[in-house]
Amino acid sequence: MASETSEISVPLLDLKAQYAPIREETIEAVRAVLDSQWFILGPTVKECEARIAEYCHCPHAVGVASGTDALLVSLMAEGIGAGDEVITTPYTFFATAGSIARLNAKPVFVDVLPSTFNLDPSQIEDRITENTKAIIPVHLFGQCAEMDPILEIAERHGLTVIEDAAQAIGAEYKGRRAGSIGQYGCFSFFPSKNLGGGGDGGMVVTDDAQRAERLDQLRVHGQSSTYYHANVGGNFRFDAIQAAIINVKLPYLDGWTAARQSNAERYRRLFEGSGLTANGLVRLPQVAPQRRHIYNQFVIRAERRDQLRSYLADHRVSSAVYYPVSLHLQECFSYLGYRDGDFPASEAAARETLALPVYPELSDEQAAYTVETIARFYSLSPDK
Ligand SMILES: *Cc1c(COP(=O)(O)O)cnc(C)c1O
Repeated sequence: MASETSEISVPLLDLKAQYAPIREETIEAVRAVLDSQWFILGPTVKECEARIAEYCHCPHAVGVASGTDALLVSLMAEGIGAGDEVITTPYTFFATAGSIARLNAKPVFVDVLPSTFNLDPSQIEDRITENTKAIIPVHLFGQCAEMDPILEIAERHGLTVIEDAAQAIGAEYKGRRAGSIGQYGCFSFFPSKNLGGGGDGGMVVTDDAQRAERLDQLRVHGQSSTYYHANVGGNFRFDAIQAAIINVKLPYLDGWTAARQSNAERYRRLFEGSGLTANGLVRLPQVAPQRRHIYNQFVIRAERRDQLRSYLADHRVSSAVYYPVSLHLQECFSYLGYRDGDFPASEAAARETLALPVYPELSDEQAAYTVETIARFYSLSPDK
């Protein structure tokens, strides 16, 4: 009945629902850090590093202050700076390219595959020059990029691969965990990621002990021993309170991922049932073969996306546009000289995509209401 459904609201994410069942153990873990008064790095951070390393199937992990710092410090550990070029995707969160630019290196964009929104490996080689030092593939929305061809190209040209796995903790590519595939894997514990802390935090994983050592020094101003600096680093340290919260949440991550995956399957059934996919008004996210997609986001392509989004908002369904502007068209990157039309797949994605709520606690009723509301929007204004 209309009077019942009118009460439903669907947030994009419901962190309070996630917190409620783990409230006591979270408070206990934070209290233990407060009692210890050891707030930065230290044993709680070390424990978190060991556990994330294990989870990501990687021998080393270095905790940092954010996902952005994870990218920045990885680039620094490779000595990337002025005159260097780093290849990445223009269809990503700003930090991916911003970290390159902050080091006075040049972000060189390569378009994405329309199917997965991830870097198109077939277009990479054309963009490699003698200045190219690294490739940053992004595992967007929780699905790994085409890593084998990327690794193969990188190897052939002597390039470092830094995975931006900020949205992809636990995602897999041919049985390999996100972050463990390239030389560096960068994670974010921003609260809206699948494994979020109580504030900012991040981590770099690597399979190389020397790289881990460099990361470890660079996050404390390049200090080789107390007050002796071999290199210029920064303050990229990880807080113990964040590490304590991540330690509590990590054992729940696979359960939350399973819930996200079943929410995604339920959306697929509901959309197929609605007829919206058959007539092309809505296109569902595609999963490439041999992937474990962890659905940090469930991103559809929708006809008249912006009107749909405001209709949903009017009916208490939250959605989001990741991302409305392809990075090559951002004002701050105008000096790179890119133009409208340079990356058609990325630009189309920026125009067409809409992220729907897929958080673990999303109910059957909320999912059904979301799809019903989308169907109603198109039936009210069926013309393209
Ligand atoms: C969130 C995110 C980052 C940055 O992480 P922060 O912890 O917010 O600094 C980098 N890259 C991608 C793809 C992200 O989604």
